[in-house]
Amino acid sequence: MRTSRFLALTIALGSMTVAGPHRAPCAPNFIVIVADDLGFGDLGSYGNTEIRTPALDRLAAEGVRLKEFYTPAPTCSPARAALLTGRHPLRTGVTRVFVPKEVQGLPAEEITLAEHLKDLGYATACIGKWHLGGRKQHRPPSHGFDEFFGVLYSNNMVWLQRFNWPRIELFDGNRSIESPADTSFLTRRYTHRAIEFIHRKRDAPFFLYVAYTMPHIPLAASPEFTGRSRYGPYGDVVEELDASIGHLMAELQRAGLAGDTYVFFTSDNGPWLGDESTPGGATGGLRGFKGTTWEGGLRIPLIAWGPGRLPSGVVREGVASLLDLFPTISGLAGADLPADREYDGADILPLLRGKSMPSPRDLFFSNRQEVDAVRSGHWKLHLRERVIGPQGRPRKSRDIDPPRLYRLDQDPGEEEDVAGSHLEVVSRMRQDAEQFQSETKATLKLWPFGRAIIRGLLTPAP
Ligand code: MG
Repeated sequence: MRTSRFLALTIALGSMTVAGPHRAPCAPNFIVIVADDLGFGDLGSYGNTEIRTPALDRLAAEGVRLKEFYTPAPTCSPARAALLTGRHPLRTGVTRVFVPKEVQGLPAEEITLAEHLKDLGYATACIGKWHLGGRKQHRPPSHGFDEFFGVLYSNNMVWLQRFNWPRIELFDGNRSIESPADTSFLTRRYTHRAIEFIHRKRDAPFFLYVAYTMPHIPLAASPEFTGRSRYGPYGDVVEELDASIGHLMAELQRAGLAGDTYVFFTSDNGPWLGDESTPGGATGGLRGFKGTTWEGGLRIPLIAWGPGRLPSGVVREGVASLLDLFPTISGLAGADLPADREYDGADILPLLRGKSMPSPRDLFFSNRQEVDAVRSGHWKLHLRERVIGPQGRPRKSRDIDPPRLYRLDQDPGEEEDVAGSHLEVVSRMRQDAEQFQSETKATLKLWPFGRAIIRGLLTPAP
């Protein structure tokens, strides 16, 4: 923290000694863009031939694209907590999605990337879907964001459709400005607000976190994009998302900030697959979908863009995850990580620049309070799995006995269980999972859904 303060002071002094408010050369801007439930195979640059994504394909052509990028958990809130804190869901305790009205949320003790960068003098904004708690003390303004424009929950969290309750509310700061919000315009409104922020903060280093609501169901595109894609409603919303991000990037260039800004584009988890009448997202041939710890639920796109500072048009192999964005951005900002806590990610700048990472790392995947799967080198071990109910809906988890082992470099589709012929690998990885499980005891214990909903209803907001 001391280093952070020193840097903040340096930045402040730097801006005073040069005429006008000037950025220090070591303080680049950061834009992190997250799509909701966008699959590993939904972008042209990731092999999709149906959905048109020219803006994101251009971002990939000018930046670095990762082929083995993961979320540590295949649902919204745990993934977002991991991204914004750099800490595993089993460590923060954010092990399931938050529901409307509930009284629990991302604990105040967690340091978000916004809080970390704010210490360095950054202006911060959260635009889009938050999903880390809806009570005032858990919202973005209480977690280091100067500004918030967006929704607190997923757009499907309307329990009583007939009464439109609870409503999807659009917030500006802590003020509800539209209820129910018209979700068909959210993509465009988020982008407009993001562009306005960029122009307003062009002279200060900024961290802009844009978490689009789409393509999470229920799908909604604006009239301009509805019925336009040959891939149906899912294609419509992804194509609108792409065009909107293209608009954002054009405005970044117009503001003269392209050389001072790093952009990271990713998703929070794998896609829901839809059905024959309304196909959902694509996993790029990987097994499983959102809510499962098969590769299709966990693997997501990552595009890192920083012309002149990151390579352009390259694809990197090498395992990385949402947990790495905090340390990587922290490193690019010239800051040390807070020393009072464990971080599960690493600075992946070497990987982005084509060098090998200092040490190979295991990745642990969870779906609630347990490690369900582990990736170690080319191996992936499955210890637990979600039972899949009607319409592909994941239900509760159960142990897999004996565990299943897949060799991902030869079998990316996780089809051939080779545990029987690699018992020593299974044993080592299982021990690693048990060790990780035992060392990540979170203070936050989230209640089961039923209790969370009832307690939320019985506890009105002050
Ligand atoms: Mg999601």
